[in-house]
Amino acid sequence: MKTWIPDARNFSYLTWKQVDALPREKTLLVLPTAAIEQHGHHLPLATDTLINNLLLGKALAQVSTEMPIYALPPVCYGKSNEHIGFPGTLSVSAQTFMAVVRDVGASIAAAGFKKLVLYNTHGGNTSLVDVMARDLRAEFGLRTFTLFGSGGAGAEGISQQEKTYGFHAGEVETALLLHGTPELVHPQEYTANYIARVEESALLKPEGSAANFAWLTKDIAPSGVLGDPTAATAENGERWATAAATRVAEALVAMYNFVPRHGA
Ligand SMILES: [Zn+2]
Repeated sequence: MKTWIPDARNFSYLTWKQVDALPREKTLLVLPTAAIEQHGHHLPLATDTLINNLLLGKALAQVSTEMPIYALPPVCYGKSNEHIGFPGTLSVSAQTFMAVVRDVGASIAAAGFKKLVLYNTHGGNTSLVDVMARDLRAEFGLRTFTLFGSGGAGAEGISQQEKTYGFHAGEVETALLLHGTPELVHPQEYTANYIARVEESALLKPEGSAANFAWLTKDIAPSGVLGDPTAATAENGERWATAAATRVAEALVAMYNFVPRHGA
């Protein structure tokens, strides 16, 4: 898998003696979680994993080398059963995903490290990552953190419709890959599909609302795209990646420096 993680920030490039020399209390380890799943006719299966790596790599390149912050190898296989029925989707169950994250956390805790970030770029993993951050805190006493996608940076200039319903293989993901791995994007294969319109005031939403319906991609988007990639450009991809990496870097520094405030 292509990587943007600086070599000096790649935990798996260290020897065990180098790991042993790291300051255990301070070191912040980042576990990327993503997916290998269909992304329409025009993007590769590894899209979420590549985006995770691109944003995290650019973020780590901005962080002071004084701070011992390392990227662990990613959990590439995610809970992707919303995309079953599309050849190439390689999904693990919620139980398997949580077991892998738990075991990695156990290994980190056993080595004496204290701080772990779960950095997730696949929507199907989000609720599991939230669960695991709390469970690792409770079971091993790890100081755990969650971080998602762009770290809260918006995709400047995007339409409200695409921002709300461009869930998957839409303009943002396509632009990020046009920037990061243009050789893996197939613009002649673009398809567009929206499962709802922002101007419609339906009571039940596909997600993120107080009342939602559970969806499978094959039921609602035959091509596998949820959104519209047509307007994506490499220039926007670079701008959005840079803005996201800055937010991710800021979040990592805040996590590195984090001291919980205790009540009186
Ligand atoms: Zn994706």
